[in-house]
Amino acid sequence: MPYAMLPDDLAELDSLGLRRYRRTLDSAQATHVLVDGKKYVAFCSNDYLGLANHPELIAAAQAGAAQFGVGAGASHLVLGHARAHEALESQLAAFVKLPRALLFSTGYMANLGIVTALMNREDAVFADRLNHASLNDACLLARAQFKRYAHNNLDQLQRLLASTRARRKLIVADAVFSMDGDIAPVPDLLALAERYDAWLLLDDAHGFGVLGENGRGVLEHFNAAHPRIIYMATLGKAAGVFGAFVAGDPTLIETLLQRARTYIFTTAMPPLLACALSKSIELIASGAPLRQRLHENIIQLKQTLNDSMPGGGELLPSATAIQPLVIGDNRAASSLAQRLADRGVLVPAIRPPTVPPGTARLRISLSAAHTTDDVRCLTGALAGAGVSHH
Ligand SMILES: *Cc1c(COP(=O)(O)O)cnc(C)c1O
Repeated sequence: MPYAMLPDDLAELDSLGLRRYRRTLDSAQATHVLVDGKKYVAFCSNDYLGLANHPELIAAAQAGAAQFGVGAGASHLVLGHARAHEALESQLAAFVKLPRALLFSTGYMANLGIVTALMNREDAVFADRLNHASLNDACLLARAQFKRYAHNNLDQLQRLLASTRARRKLIVADAVFSMDGDIAPVPDLLALAERYDAWLLLDDAHGFGVLGENGRGVLEHFNAAHPRIIYMATLGKAAGVFGAFVAGDPTLIETLLQRARTYIFTTAMPPLLACALSKSIELIASGAPLRQRLHENIIQLKQTLNDSMPGGGELLPSATAIQPLVIGDNRAASSLAQRLADRGVLVPAIRPPTVPPGTARLRISLSAAHTTDDVRCLTGALAGAGVSHH
């Protein structure tokens, strides 16, 4: 039987404490969810501003369905590119203050499309070790030389850039690291890109909508803008819907439209989602109070945990909505997550290969929609589950 090896493979996942199980939501994604008939306070989503279930986005999606139907029916280059997509691309470019933007169906596909369209065997990609899996996969698929540097180690990156003889060079980094929550040193990366004539691809999946005064993301946070920057952000996280976009130099964007295989050979996102996203970008632009609420939640969590775990520096030094509590052992992380669930609080245990071996963690994600009581509920459950004894 061709399947003969698979049971052993699955048993190995069990023996390593790495088997994953899904929970099935019976409610919309929110801070308070219904799972298998039980209510929980959840700290699991990337819906940082609470827009995934927002009434104005739902109304925009419904109006979009009435006008455009439910499916795009074709790829963008064959008749799937609707007025709603076109309008959203212009809106996104104006919002992030870059010349042109191109929609992709997901962030994973955007990263694959960008890197494979621009790089090949003669080229070299320089990547932070903690980058998202989609960026790593993109480099492998492009067959470019793949040179990884230790997390935020700019000296090592500089040495790698200085020693390459590759034709084109591309530095790639998460703008906010998805499992650690820290922000990449964008001005330093840009300076190295300048010095070594490289492009800089920034994956702002976790910064778009939340960083910067106006939620324009990491570029606004650092007041950075440069033609070398290839800016990618996802629309299924803070924006609350689905999809992704790339923004930058017009010639770059036209090249992606012509060459990115994950753009060309796939169905366009449903136009109704583009309608919902247009509303979402409006709410993000006027969302300073939401970002303030999120910030207050971050401060409350950090202060409470640091007080209750003196010297227990397990909470990584993150200033963003992603607040990882590193446990180390895979099973210990899973069993802590289970004890929290028993107390009505959902926090995901993140294990290898998503994070390096020995650094299994609870990845606490905060949202503007969490109340002070929700955060207190989490810190109380952590204390009850015995976190301070680690
Ligand atoms: C979530 C994520 C992606 C993938 O985006 P999707 O739209 O979910 O496919 C890419 N990069 C980073 C850093 C992410 O966190």
